[in-house]
Amino acid sequence: MRLVLVGPPGAGKGTQAARLADTYGIPAISTGDIFRANVKGETELGREAQGYMSRGALVPDEVTNAMVRDRLLHEDVAAGFLLDGYPRNPDQAVELDGMLADNGTALNAVVEITADSDEVTTRLLKRAEIEGRADDTEDVIRKRLAVYAESTAPVTAYYEGQGLLVRVDGIGEVDEVTDRLVDALRAR
Ligand code: AMP
Repeated sequence: MRLVLVGPPGAGKGTQAARLADTYGIPAISTGDIFRANVKGETELGREAQGYMSRGALVPDEVTNAMVRDRLLHEDVAAGFLLDGYPRNPDQAVELDGMLADNGTALNAVVEITADSDEVTTRLLKRAEIEGRADDTEDVIRKRLAVYAESTAPVTAYYEGQGLLVRVDGIGEVDEVTDRLVDALRAR
């Protein structure tokens, strides 16, 4: 299973990615988590990414693409993977296609988790209280939603054109959404 999970910040991608990874026995790869770990570890990559992340902007493609290319060479992705938070724009999607083609593979499906922006803003502000993520402030949330609409939403059209897109409603109980995701993937 080689999957991509797309959806606005706050749609529950991280939670659902962990559950799907468990269900299919594949690693969930979150580019946001990798960046945060590097910021925390004060690595060169972390220093490069930090300014963009704190503003809610995308880290430049060349940095992000190189990081993903490297991650997809690890042995644990041989049986598949689930990408959460990548690709974030059409150029990254084209780049990912190239990486997979180089490995003689391709994606099986791309799942879009949908949620309206009022709902996701409420969820993110709640998460800010619990997790204290630096980019969960109201201003930065607004910016991240704008970046999603402008740069990431077109990625779904790209995959729809390839016949890979599956859309799932992200509003509801966590278990309910997981069931919808698994059902939608099974139906493909
Ligand atoms: P996330 O945890 O997916 O919400 O990502 C947090 C932040 O990491 C984003 O707001 C971006 O600054 C950065 N980031 C994560 N994934 C990407 C990506 N594919 N391309 C560029 N920046 C990214």
